[in-house]
Amino acid sequence: MIKKLWTLMGIYACICVFALAALLPAQPAAVDAVQAMIERVIIQDKLSGDRAIYFRALTSQLFEYLRTVIDGASLKTLCLAGTGAELGRLVEKQLGQSVLDFGQKMFAFFEARTVETKGVDLKTWRTADSDHFAFYYRPGSAAERDLDFIRRSSEEAFLAMVSCLGLEAETQKTFRVLKTDAPQEQSGPEGLSPQGRIAVFLFPVRADGAKTLKFTMGNMSFGATIAKEPGAEKGVGRLTARINVLYLNAFSLAVLHHEIGHAALFLGHYDPTVLAAGPLGGEADLKKAFFAGYKPLPPFLHEGVGDYVIYFQTFYKYWPLLPPPASLSLSLRTTKDFIPLETLLREGARFRAQRHKAYSLEAATVIDYLLRAFGREKLRAWFLAPAADSREAFKKIYGFGVKELEEKWTVDLKAKSDFRP
Ligand SMILES: [Zn+2]
Repeated sequence: MIKKLWTLMGIYACICVFALAALLPAQPAAVDAVQAMIERVIIQDKLSGDRAIYFRALTSQLFEYLRTVIDGASLKTLCLAGTGAELGRLVEKQLGQSVLDFGQKMFAFFEARTVETKGVDLKTWRTADSDHFAFYYRPGSAAERDLDFIRRSSEEAFLAMVSCLGLEAETQKTFRVLKTDAPQEQSGPEGLSPQGRIAVFLFPVRADGAKTLKFTMGNMSFGATIAKEPGAEKGVGRLTARINVLYLNAFSLAVLHHEIGHAALFLGHYDPTVLAAGPLGGEADLKKAFFAGYKPLPPFLHEGVGDYVIYFQTFYKYWPLLPPPASLSLSLRTTKDFIPLETLLREGARFRAQRHKAYSLEAATVIDYLLRAFGREKLRAWFLAPAADSREAFKKIYGFGVKELEEKWTVDLKAKSDFRP
């Protein structure tokens, strides 16, 4: 028998919703012009496979949103684009300085539009799995429609995350003690293989995930349980990892990939030796065994590496319509939102929650710079170093301090700001 005893901690997504946007009906002719432009760009840029899937899915949704914020003449101009780069420049011109707020506003619009859930069965969870994940989705939902792509892109995000720090051996070890989390109303993950996986709950509307998704588009949590044979008093410890995402359309993949980043980093940083050794009899045993393998990770690395994968390895690479991350990060420097690196590395989760937009973007571009300039081994050493003072650990491993890092990073941002991945 497996019993869930407690959940330890949660890490929350960086994309929140602040306002609801108005919904305007789309004109059929305008829709045709958008679809024609999309197909033209796919041919012109020779997009195939996942690149074409991302481009079709995300660009159609982008225009649904743009129709509500720009006029018809400007929309027509966007539809004249012949290549993805051209479309990117035109969109950037339309959005101007608001490009940094773009994601938040667009998600608010999508959410306002999907309040209705006609045809979605909110009483049933369907399940599907991939190598590292068990997905739970509602029949008739957008997640069901996009399921194949959700599975493939989730695996890609996970593997990119693990390989950018060389955590293959660590995550394999932790996966051996992972138990797939199941919905409360189900006794177990029906139809899934017994091998433990990261559970991903894809909620079609916020109300469906009300218990866990009150203020965010996604979050992830870890837990521990005791696996007991029937009638046994003691058992061995098992980890659980669960991601909750409000899945509205393909843009929600960015939220999902970000949460996958947190899960992969946790699993790559956790030492399961004591937890798996057992025997464990109750909550006190379990708590002690769990904490024997748990070391807190600086929020800078959690957020930075997570968003690095979105900006440089998966989502953004496949859909490079917005300005390059280096340009976005540079443009922050002239605003009050900019966070000096010294502060970025010192502050904790509460600060991150208040300044998530600048925090994650800056941290991602710092990680990108460190990986290109000094390689994966140094970043891995920093990631695995005790987190008591991550600035001191940085100095020891890289041989220079955070002030010098800020100078080097700024020079690199200027050199890379015209670069589109
Ligand atoms: Zn996060």
